[in-house]
Amino acid sequence: MSIAIAIDGPAGAGKSTIARLAAKELGFIYVDTGALYRAIGLAASRRGFSKESQSDIISMLDMIRVELSFNDKGEQIVLLDGEDVSGLIRTPEISMMASAVSAIPEVRAFLLDLQRDMAHTENVIMDGRDIGTVVLPDAKLKIFLSASPECRARRRYDELIEKGMDVKYEDILSDVIERDYADSHREIAPLKPAEGAVIVDTSGEDLETSVNKLLNIMREHI
Ligand code: C5P
Repeated sequence: MSIAIAIDGPAGAGKSTIARLAAKELGFIYVDTGALYRAIGLAASRRGFSKESQSDIISMLDMIRVELSFNDKGEQIVLLDGEDVSGLIRTPEISMMASAVSAIPEVRAFLLDLQRDMAHTENVIMDGRDIGTVVLPDAKLKIFLSASPECRARRRYDELIEKGMDVKYEDILSDVIERDYADSHREIAPLKPAEGAVIVDTSGEDLETSVNKLLNIMREHI
């Protein structure tokens, strides 16, 4: 039987960085489910759809193929109709689009089996917003990872600046607050801690401290 660890929490809490490092340490596969919503956001944006074009986005689902694959370093690659879009989905525009498409029930249903299938075949640390509540409610361990909005915006800002993007901290902070609100107030699969989740706050912590804290929790449970 494979082991699943679910990590949920708002954008910028450090989920992906921490989960990736912890997975490497434990020999698990790290699955970043946000990338799937981002790929759909990209597909919609390429067709010129707006955040409000719900029916167009739903019809588009029959015409696109979204897949996850892993390179020889074990890093996740997202394929949209066979094209590696892993880099293209990391822009602020696609972040907002991903948040919008993720509120559409048909989009969530479209991605559900793909996520569950991965957890059935491999030991995974899967991160997202509804992994413990909807996708893998029977996960061996559920973690809800958070940090203050300012701290999360600062991390995202540093990340984007490092990639050479021209962004303002204030814009990132208001995006974080807007996305938090949208993700936690949507009708379907709103962001909230799963029943039995261990709640971890990483505000003000450096990466090493957070990774060690999570690894200790994981080792106690698996
Ligand atoms: O985690 P990331 O910021 O890449 O996710 C992009 C968007 O996808 C989030 O704002 C959220 O709305 C959505 N998402 C989701 N459920 C998941 C993962 C991501 O709704 N399991």
